[in-house]
Amino acid sequence: MKRKVLIIYTGGTIGMEKDYTTGSLRAFDFEHIFDKIPEMSLLECDVSIHAFDKPLDSSDIGPEEWKIIAKIIFDKYNDFDGFLILHGTDTMSYTASALSFMLNGLRKPVILTGSQLPIGDLRTDAKENLLTSLYYASLYEGNEALVQEVAIYFEYKLLRGNRTLKYSAEYFDAYKSPNYPILGKSGVHLNIDRDALYRTGDNEVFSIDLHLCTDIVFWRIFPGMSFQSLLHLPKTKVLILQVFGSGTIFNSQETERILKEIRNRNTEIIVLSQCISGGISIGKYENSNIFHVVDAISGKDLSAESAITKSMHLMDNPRYKNNFHENFSKNLRGELEEKFGD
Ligand code: ASP
Repeated sequence: MKRKVLIIYTGGTIGMEKDYTTGSLRAFDFEHIFDKIPEMSLLECDVSIHAFDKPLDSSDIGPEEWKIIAKIIFDKYNDFDGFLILHGTDTMSYTASALSFMLNGLRKPVILTGSQLPIGDLRTDAKENLLTSLYYASLYEGNEALVQEVAIYFEYKLLRGNRTLKYSAEYFDAYKSPNYPILGKSGVHLNIDRDALYRTGDNEVFSIDLHLCTDIVFWRIFPGMSFQSLLHLPKTKVLILQVFGSGTIFNSQETERILKEIRNRNTEIIVLSQCISGGISIGKYENSNIFHVVDAISGKDLSAESAITKSMHLMDNPRYKNNFHENFSKNLRGELEEKFGD
């Protein structure tokens, strides 16, 4: 049986070609993708295309576009076996993380990919990324999709979307998921690590949740910074503090006073590590005990992209009955290890 995949084209380098007279990149009409990659007609799946009216650089993709993508997937869920989102690479990890929380009870593949070089370039990585993503998006065993989560496929690797970060602006091997195993590798064969795949609860029915609160501040501390400046920030619902190593911060009365003042404004404080691998372990060092004192939330082994989009999803969301702290610490979509740092 031929599987059906819907490509949602949002923009980014993958849909560009070089104008050889001016030397600059321009978006081409994506409906003509079959002319660029005639091999697509050899695929064992049927492909349909839904292109954004105006292709966007991914720095222009945010909550409103995530809602549009989630709605398209919801509306077409029963018509297609898998979904492939073509996206600029710069913010792809944010979109993948956000969608993982917005799509509830997902049982079909939602794969995101893009490329470092435009599809019209001789050395492009777009072809392989696109063609193999289509394979993963249409990979079924009987009636069951193998991938039932939001994943990023890039440069021979399939990764859990909400565990990824864009790691290189230079190399084709641009994404990593430092805190989670690779879901699949493509070589001569398409390999899948079945034990690493996410499965939704048996009783979950597919639905989308479009609630996204953007009242969030992300702040990276550094040696010598004026901590006082945090108090000049406008009042916010969530402050994500990216601190040192496994969760340390300046050991001073001023730090404690300021964090307490922020908490008194009804702001949730999330503690995240500046390291891209590993995570937070509050209490390991004396210089992390302050976070217990102010009742901050450990970001455990979350990526920054996941911590931000999970906060957007949870804060003030009636579905979670306002229990932000408890739900943030839970593993909702395979984005964190609940026991991390305990
Ligand atoms: N600036 C581009 C984007 O993220 C880069 C890319 O697609 O690789 O839309």
